[in-house]
Amino acid sequence: MSDIYHEALRTFGSEPQLLQMVEECSELTKAIIKHINRGHNPDRVGEELADVETVMNQIKIYLSGKGVDYAACQAKSVKRLRANIDRVKGM
Ligand SMILES: [Mg+2]
Repeated sequence: MSDIYHEALRTFGSEPQLLQMVEECSELTKAIIKHINRGHNPDRVGEELADVETVMNQIKIYLSGKGVDYAACQAKSVKRLRANIDRVKGM
């Protein structure tokens, strides 16, 4: 599956795909707001989330090529989530 993400990066270039990420995040934001405020179909949120994930997989490859340890970033993020959950639960 990762072959297609590499191919997309080679075909379109990293900067356009970074901009695509911004666009897809914006579309996801809009779909979530419409879902919450107007009760729109959650399928739209799923579709936009999938778009974000597709581009996200390309951006992870791009960042890896720039020496970014995404796994470490992800581990830190989950650690912050753990701390926030524990804080809310009073632990
Ligand atoms: Mg989209």
